Order: sequence, then C-alpha cells, then structure tokens
Amino acid sequence: MPHQQSVTLNDGKVMPQLGFGVFQTPPEATAEAVRIALADGYRSIDTAAVYGNEAGVGEGFRASGLAREDVFITTKLWNGSQGFDRGLRACEKSLERLGLDHVDLYLIHWPAPKQDLYLESWKALIRLREEGKATSIGVSNFAPEHLDRIIDETGVVPVLNQIELHPSFQQRTWRAADARHGVVTESWSPLGQGDALSDPTLVRIAAKHGKTAAQVVIRWHLDLGLIVIPKSVTPSRIAENFDVWDFKLDPEDLAAIEALDKPSGRRGPDPVTMG
Ligand code: NAD
Repeated sequence: MPHQQSVTLNDGKVMPQLGFGVFQTPPEATAEAVRIALADGYRSIDTAAVYGNEAGVGEGFRASGLAREDVFITTKLWNGSQGFDRGLRACEKSLERLGLDHVDLYLIHWPAPKQDLYLESWKALIRLREEGKATSIGVSNFAPEHLDRIIDETGVVPVLNQIELHPSFQQRTWRAADARHGVVTESWSPLGQGDALSDPTLVRIAAKHGKTAAQVVIRWHLDLGLIVIPKSVTPSRIAENFDVWDFKLDPEDLAAIEALDKPSGRRGPDPVTMG
C-alpha cells in the first residue's frame, strides 16, 4: 500500500490527496500542529487569510525542515478582499504572513454572489498564477452556476472546488458539475466536524476493518477520488487521521455510507445565499 496518494490537477500539477486543515486552530497552536502533521507524513496544508493563522503555518513548515517543493500549501482570498486590485494585494499579504514567495494553490474562499465580485477576483487569481505567486488556482464553495460563469468569461478552469462534503452531506450534484469541467472536488469538514463519527453504520464498518470511524470516513473520501483535509490539534488524532493506507472499503461499505446522505445535512452556510 502507498503511504500517500496524489491527484493530478487539470493544469498538470500534482497535489497530495490527503492534507491537513487548520480552520479554528488557534494562531498560537498552529505552528506546532503543522509541525506534527508534517512529521507524521502529511505534505499538504490548508489555511485561509480569515483563519488568522497563516503565520503559524509558515512557521510550522519551516520547523519541519522539509524542502519547499515537498510541501503543498493552500490559502484563500477572503470575501472582504474580493475584486481585481484588492485580490492581488490580499495574496501579497498572505504570502508575507506565510513567509513564502508563492503558494501552491490559491482559492477564492466563497463566491459571495451578493457582492458580485467573484469574476473580477478570478481574473486576479489568473494574474497571480501568471506572476508565479500561485502555482495553481481554484475556488471554494462555488455552485455550478458560479463555476460556469467564471469559465465562460475567462476560459480558465479552476483546478479544484473545495466544498462542504461528508457522509451526511454528499453533494452529488455539485460533484458532477465539478467533474464535467475536469475540476477536482475537495471536501471541507470531511469528518462533519467530528459529530457524526458515532453513527452506528460508521462504527460497524470501522470495527470490521479494525480502524476508527474517522479513518473510515477519510478512506471513503479517498476512495471516491476526493481531496480531503481533516483538521485536529490533538497529536494522537492528527496521526490517526493519516493512518489510512492499510485498508480499503468494499462495495457493501460504500453502499452503506452512500445511504447516510441527507438533504438537510449541511452544517455550514449555503454558498448561494452567503455573503
Ligand atoms: P473536520 O470535519 O475536519 O472536523 C474536525 C473536528 O473533528 C476536530 O475539531 C475534532 O473535533 C474532530 N476530529 C478530528 N479528528 C478526529 C478523530 N480522529 N476522531 C474523533 N474526532 C476527530 O472539520 P473542519 O475543520 O471544519 O474542516 C476541515 C478543514 O476544511 C478545515 O480545517 C479547513 O482547512 C477546511 N474548511 C474550509 C472551509 C471553506 O469554506 N473552504 C470551511 C470549513 C473548513
């Protein structure tokens, strides 16, 4: 079995399929959490300007002793910085806080359709890619109509769309829309923020494989071809969430998890109405 799996993005770049998220990780705890994750084998870190912990991500990366080209770092443009000029400046600020000269992936965090600036923001991301400040560019929380619009207007297809996705909110329609454009879907809150891990179906499948429910859910994302970025600040859980390479789910497991999907399973804001 491999000790990591990768996905080739539509711009030819390669991204680790299992990464480490730092949403709600306190700034003062971020460097240590990132250092531990990198020591455990993670090679991809997902932060955002609005998380307030980009400096800690940069610090944790430098403490790891790993080479820059061996770690894939993602950050995101916040809603209040959308627009062409503001988008360019916001990326510069993120790079300063991270202490890096480029990120591997820069995302528009939310379409925020009421502001109607996401198309201008997308043009800024295209410029940032041309300037080498972002190696790859993508979006987050984009509904199919938002994706269609930026692609129609610019001809540039995002490499991925990072959306809320977990067993109780499986996002089949949006995944299909992403796939139609060759956009990889990346799952945020992949563990449903931890609350759904006591679900009896997940507990039963976990016992069958001698793994935990969190590991089963992470394996499910990987087996569906999704990029997955679980978050934890607890060292034992950081390690547990990366220990998923020695088993695979069978068709019966996959069917049982598929049946956990609920129309009301969304936990975060609805991107179509938010912002
Ligand atoms: P998650 O689904 O990864 O759940 C994290 C929580 O689950 C932890 O705080 C902990 O309570 C629990 N947990 C983690 N590992 C566990 C384990 N092994 N056993 C039991 N419980 C465990 O939730 P998340 O942090 O919301 O999402 C992951 C990442 O996705 C974020 O850190 C962030 O990088 C990204 N994200 C992006 C957006 C966006 O709008 N683009 C929104 C939310 C999150």
